[in-house]
Amino acid sequence: MQDKVWSALKERDMERGPRPDASGSVWENWRMALDSNGVAWLTLDKKDASANTLSEDVMRELDGILAGLERNPPKGLVIRSAKESGFIAGADINQFKGVTDAEAVKAALRFGHAVVDRLEALPVPTIAVIHGYCLGGGLEIALACKYRIARNDASLGFPEILLGLHPGLGGTARATTLIDPVEAMTMMLTGKSVHAKKAKALGLVDAVTEERHIATAVAAVVKGEIPSAHQGLRARVFDLGPTRALLAKRMRAEADKKAPPAHYPAPGALIDLWENFGGDRRRMKQEEIESFARLLLTDTAQNLIRVFFLREHLKSLAVKGTPPAHVHVIGAGVMGGDIAAWCAWRGMNVTLADMKAEPLGKAVKRAAELYGKIGHSSIAIRDALDRLVPDLHGDGVKGADIVIEAVPENADLKHRIYADVQARMKPGAILATNTSSIPLETLRAGLLHPDRFVGLHFFNPVSRMQLIEVVAHDGVGEDALKAARSFAGHLDRLPASVKSAPGFLVNRALTPYLLGAMLMLGEGTPKETIDAAATQFGMPVGPIELADQVGLDICLEVGEMLKRELDQPMPEAPAFLREKVKAGDLGRKTGQGLYPWKDGQAVKASDTPPPSPEMADRLILPLLNTCVAILREGVAPDEETIDGGMIFGTGFAPFRGGPLAYARARGFESVKQALEALQAKYGERFRPDPGWDTLS
Ligand code: NAD
Repeated sequence: MQDKVWSALKERDMERGPRPDASGSVWENWRMALDSNGVAWLTLDKKDASANTLSEDVMRELDGILAGLERNPPKGLVIRSAKESGFIAGADINQFKGVTDAEAVKAALRFGHAVVDRLEALPVPTIAVIHGYCLGGGLEIALACKYRIARNDASLGFPEILLGLHPGLGGTARATTLIDPVEAMTMMLTGKSVHAKKAKALGLVDAVTEERHIATAVAAVVKGEIPSAHQGLRARVFDLGPTRALLAKRMRAEADKKAPPAHYPAPGALIDLWENFGGDRRRMKQEEIESFARLLLTDTAQNLIRVFFLREHLKSLAVKGTPPAHVHVIGAGVMGGDIAAWCAWRGMNVTLADMKAEPLGKAVKRAAELYGKIGHSSIAIRDALDRLVPDLHGDGVKGADIVIEAVPENADLKHRIYADVQARMKPGAILATNTSSIPLETLRAGLLHPDRFVGLHFFNPVSRMQLIEVVAHDGVGEDALKAARSFAGHLDRLPASVKSAPGFLVNRALTPYLLGAMLMLGEGTPKETIDAAATQFGMPVGPIELADQVGLDICLEVGEMLKRELDQPMPEAPAFLREKVKAGDLGRKTGQGLYPWKDGQAVKASDTPPPSPEMADRLILPLLNTCVAILREGVAPDEETIDGGMIFGTGFAPFRGGPLAYARARGFESVKQALEALQAKYGERFRPDPGWDTLS
């Protein structure tokens, strides 16, 4: 029903087509139609784009349209989007790339502010009708309207902080005066979106309705039958400086814990803005321009913008196609159970097989817990659980479009599984392995259809790690790789195309970093000091804590495999690591690893010495060196895949733009010299890869 109304609306708008504005020009991105009540429906349909963004031409046209409406005011103005995906996805981020001229940025922002102020000042009821994504600048446009009507599927947010920025079109001032400023600041500081219902509860929108009631809701607003949200009591309390100062202090402490201000200046800048000018809307808007321009020119913002485009690049590799209707997963352990749960959450029918009933029960329980955390409706949670079917006898194989094997890391076992399932798989179905270290050339031996066999290397935890390495081997067909990348896209994951080579991309680059840290530990450096060297560089967790999280058994296994398989110097795993594994002290999963673990947290000493400047280089440079080797060997096709893979697969310091972007910024030659100095001091494992000489 909703779809029918939607397409009828689109057709109606299409019939009326682009209209000249008062100055006689034709708009390329906007359409306008008057309804029988004299209300103007202004629809944004950005030219040649699947989603609406606020590019300069969109804003210029809007300015012209508003000028026309000021001269001939309609009874009301509705702003909505013609794109199925949503209202407005935010600013056009291309405009932010590589900017160096603060004055030009400020001039552009002043123009944007003038347009949005003009919309706000229009002396008629203005109504943003929001569906799907309403983000960043899109939400700022909506906030300048007097009313906001959200469709049930709307999702509103300020993701600017993820780009090292804060809202820049007056949103900081409008959001903090419209709703509880603490809620507004939380939205802006976390970048998290809120769904329609929550937005209504916050007072961010005035009504939530279904598509078929929108015209009625608009008519009611124009007749004054729906009260508009107004500055609440809490917002007024925060007009007082001392109250804001108190709250700002707490926010700063919280923000500093999540992201060190030296690396991520935007949260602090946003808090300063509110603390200093929150009582004065006009001044806050002016200062917002200054602050935004300062932030945009920082290395952090520019690198985070690079990360945005790396994500887009990987997303674009997830070729479009129909999602598999049925996925069969074999092995309901840590990985298989979570892969199955995620596939079911993303709308696929899933059968999950295991040789034992117990892991199946545990996997379904974990899935229910996950859905409880991420689900917004009990119906969605129930439906996802219905789609996840435990399948002790493996009957699901015959109907599956894709079979994913996630049994323990043992080539013989995996071969036995393939021999059993391949004859029962339906024609054309894909067989995938989640192996993290066994060469696919070994696993494909003896397969009936090696061309339809691929690696799909998920990362743990599956629901949070965005990357999937899509692993090719010498006998794979291009169609299977395309299907695997498309599958990753349907799972809302980022596919990184890699060749079957020991450790693929992520594990290979991470291992010298982890083993290097073990060697430092063996030399007597406290583990907390080693971890601090990495986190001060910008890694989300230090290598010792990470090794405990991954599991010391897995670290040892991967380290030994890489040492065996690669013709490159790799640190020997220290004896204490073997002893820990032998004793069953495997890390977080056993409660004891290199750290003791309590309630899922590593227990750390607080009185350890700070790291020396050399320590970060000793940890990070071997990782960079390996990335260069991976590029030279063609294991990953390009720098974007490597930087994106390391950021989305390991959390490599995003504000540095990825390992190769960091090396580029520091200077390839200078990194090579630093490696040579470490090689002279600590040995061959720091020898620069020959690939450094070919980078430009
Ligand atoms: P796991 O030990 O947690 O789970 C394996 C499951 O397979 C168990 O439930 C076991 O009962 C089941 N199984 C064993 N033999 C079977 C058979 N013949 N038929 C059906 N089920 C069988 O292992 P895991 O950590 O989930 O790892 C699975 C695979 O994923 C491995 O190849 C591993 O290298 C890879 N991987 C692991 C991680 C990780 O962090 N654990 C990350 C990426 C990839």
